[in-house]
Amino acid sequence: MEKKDYIEKTEKEIDVSLNEAWTLIRTDLKQAFSIIKKAEKLAIKINYDKGIAFCMILLARYNAIKSSNYDEALQLASEGNELAISIGSDEVQIKASYVLGYLYTDLGNLELGLRNYFRGLELMKEKNEEIDPFFLNNIGVVYYDSGQFDEALEFLQEALKTLRKIEKVEYIFESLVLANIAEIYLIKKNTETALKFINESFIVLKENGAESHCFAQNYNVLGLIYKEIGDFQKALENLQLSLSLYKENNQKYMEANGFKEIGKLYLSRNRKEEAIINLKNGLKIAERINAFGMLKDIYMVLAEIAEKDNDYKNAFNYLKSYNELNEKIKTKELDDKLVQHMTEFKVEKAQKDAEIQRLKNEELRRKSEETALKARALAESYEDIKIIGEIGQKITATLDIKKVLNMVYKNINKLMDADIFGICLYNAEQGLITFRIMIEQGKRLPLIKTTIDNEKSFAAKCIREKQAVCLNNIIADSNQQLRYGHGVTKMLSKSIIYYPLIVEDKVVGAMTVQSYRENAYSERSMGMIKALASYIAIALNNSQKSEELKAKSNELEILSKTDVLTGVFNRRYLMDRIEEEALNYKKTQQEFSVVILDIDYFKKVNDIYGHDCGDYILVKLTKLLKTSMRRQDILARWGGEEFLMLLPNTKGDAATSLCEGIRKKIEGTNFVYRKNKIKLTVTFGVEEYNESLGVDSTINNADKNLYKGKNQGRNCVVSH
Ligand code: GH3
Ligand code: MG
Ligand code: MG
Repeated sequence: MEKKDYIEKTEKEIDVSLNEAWTLIRTDLKQAFSIIKKAEKLAIKINYDKGIAFCMILLARYNAIKSSNYDEALQLASEGNELAISIGSDEVQIKASYVLGYLYTDLGNLELGLRNYFRGLELMKEKNEEIDPFFLNNIGVVYYDSGQFDEALEFLQEALKTLRKIEKVEYIFESLVLANIAEIYLIKKNTETALKFINESFIVLKENGAESHCFAQNYNVLGLIYKEIGDFQKALENLQLSLSLYKENNQKYMEANGFKEIGKLYLSRNRKEEAIINLKNGLKIAERINAFGMLKDIYMVLAEIAEKDNDYKNAFNYLKSYNELNEKIKTKELDDKLVQHMTEFKVEKAQKDAEIQRLKNEELRRKSEETALKARALAESYEDIKIIGEIGQKITATLDIKKVLNMVYKNINKLMDADIFGICLYNAEQGLITFRIMIEQGKRLPLIKTTIDNEKSFAAKCIREKQAVCLNNIIADSNQQLRYGHGVTKMLSKSIIYYPLIVEDKVVGAMTVQSYRENAYSERSMGMIKALASYIAIALNNSQKSEELKAKSNELEILSKTDVLTGVFNRRYLMDRIEEEALNYKKTQQEFSVVILDIDYFKKVNDIYGHDCGDYILVKLTKLLKTSMRRQDILARWGGEEFLMLLPNTKGDAATSLCEGIRKKIEGTNFVYRKNKIKLTVTFGVEEYNESLGVDSTINNADKNLYKGKNQGRNCVVSH
């Protein structure tokens, strides 16, 4: 056989076996792997680039399925994709876009996942190929995950239609698409249609004699449908069945999800204990497999349960875990964005490299000056992308708004002429636009505010219309400059760009760059501003969300330490503080005392004036106590109408005389409630901390002293 014939024949063989592996990989990973490896060897031997690229894509897929090694999978898939682009193979690009699509979505980067899937669809259409229903299904699922249910339904139904046209339908896939459709109808609260589709899915599986684990998703969806209908028992049965199937099949993520759903089901019936047990089981698994999104969900539910139970300490801890995860995820999102940028950069580079090579060849042939210039310009243009990537990387490292803004400012001049640079944020609820940074030639300008309906503000116009405002040659004092502008700059700008900052389709603000030069901004600058704006928007949104969460978490932290009625610390917090003080004693021998005080005959107040009056007096008394104590002293409500004081750096005698002063003050106070003047007295039990006794016995002794005082006739301070 001639060498050429041999190569052609081998290339065909490689194509055939790799296509076989592509289908096989869904069902028989091992077999698929051995086919790929064999084909790879051959492809390398005969230098068959298309085969090599296809192998890389398949190996990426193998890595992701076999060992969840996404980093390596992403690397392989991206390199395979670049190779496919550089040799102009649409066929392999389509496969690459599929693999990249699901790698990114699995990693939680839905936007980039979608983009890859759509690129694949586009290529199939261009080539007039049959549309692969797996693409349609996956796009549907991404839309579902991002909450765009109408779009999701559209693509899933299209997937169903397309796959039923194929002669040999993959029945497991068909049942999966049906179950996905059922889930969406369930979300839309159309339980009847949801039931119809899930039943169809069951039938498809049963008719084909599917193995039991294939039914797991169906039982899960069915369980959720029964939950929606309100049939608790059937819901529980189906969810549990689904869970056990996932468990059998070692699908950890779905197992965690199963526990979560069962937990939420119990919660819907207010069966908190069972809910918590299941949620915590889910939590354990999710932790083990680093399923951040799921962890977040579970933490939030647990925090809500605890908060409803007034268990602020646990609520705070769960929310704290939620926050920490959230920050981790957000930082990762930015990282992904960067990877995306760099991937695009690489793809662009591969295309440009090919173009440069072509121009160079032409140049050699024609020795033309023009082509040499073109080649150089192309080589320069991706330097910009690199710088933007670097800025993005720096933004990635922080969730602090101010740092983000400064970072952008410091770098923007590397990219373009910017005498003025500013960023404003938009609060849609209040209709307010607030500048967060405005710098003119290195000098910070006052930060102005304006409203969205301000006809004279470029920022408002840009945000309102969700569109860039570009003015490239303004005469310094023209009407336009006076009509718009922001009133604080030197008004020398002749080129102005305002660009909207958009996250998830919502405008969160705008950025502006301005130059004293005319026509300072080209299409290229706009491209860079667009890329920068996408980073800034995400970074701003993340830092804002993280600030909101921090505020909520602070609130809970305070709640977890305080008594709701009186606002002073609660028992648990004070116990922690006393333990701390005891530790401190060990190191420094610094004495301290504890005091327990109890209102005398408080029951009578309630009996005579009512419970509300009792509550009112408790609040008033804590105010009086707090103003009578020293700055270092700590007051806590011990329970009922008893309080505990921790007096650091205070011996027993000093504590006694301090209490004596407070006792007298209370005795002399009229507590006025609805014109009733009420007199109160309080009894104090004092004890100095004694290391040989320990914390608990010290408090016990204070309590004993208090009861001695009660027995001695009340309204007194007792210390031994
Ligand atoms: P003494 O301590 O002098 O022996 O008499 P007392 O009447 O204060 O007796 P005791 O400590 O047994 O009763 C405490 C009462 O305080 C019982 C309850 O009615 C009242 N109390 C406890 N917590 C609250 C509260 O949060 N609000 C109101 N209004 N009353 C409370
Ligand atoms: Mg009492
Ligand atoms: Mg009492």
